[in-house]
Amino acid sequence: MLVDRHPAVSIQGRARGLNQRSLEIFRPMGIEAAIVDAGRPFENDRGGARCENLAGPWEWLFEPDAPLQWAGTSPSEFCLAE
Ligand SMILES: Cc1cc2nc3c(=O)[nH]c(=O)nc-3n(C[C@H](O)[C@H](O)[C@H](O)COP(=O)(O)OP(=O)(O)OC[C@H]3O[C@@H](n4cnc5c(N)ncnc54)[C@H](O)[C@@H]3O)c2cc1C
Repeated sequence: MLVDRHPAVSIQGRARGLNQRSLEIFRPMGIEAAIVDAGRPFENDRGGARCENLAGPWEWLFEPDAPLQWAGTSPSEFCLAE
């Protein structure tokens, strides 16, 4: 039995994408390319901001043009999933 303090799934997104390390793990499974393709419709929906509340000041956590890949760190790229 699973008991959760919330009555339903949150309406606030908490998984905008899959990190490079996840994609690295999917690669030898042969499913990396299919997962990246599934995220293509969202590739222009990028960037993340943070604020203390919706009416207050905010700042970019990472900007919309932040790179999806860091060459030398991982052969895979960040994959948008939302
Ligand atoms: C804004 C945001 C963006 C994120 N974006 C990404 C992303 O793009 N990619 C990514 O990989 N990860 C992302 N994450 C992280 C990811 O969402 C978490 O790592 C993941 O949800 C953790 O899953 P979990 O099942 O361990 O915990 P949770 O999803 O936090 O589940 C814990 C559950 O336990 C319940 N609970 C807690 N205390 C109690 C209690 N005392 N009694 C009963 N129930 C309780 C909670 O209600 C909750 O439903 C993001 C997180 C945030 C906050």
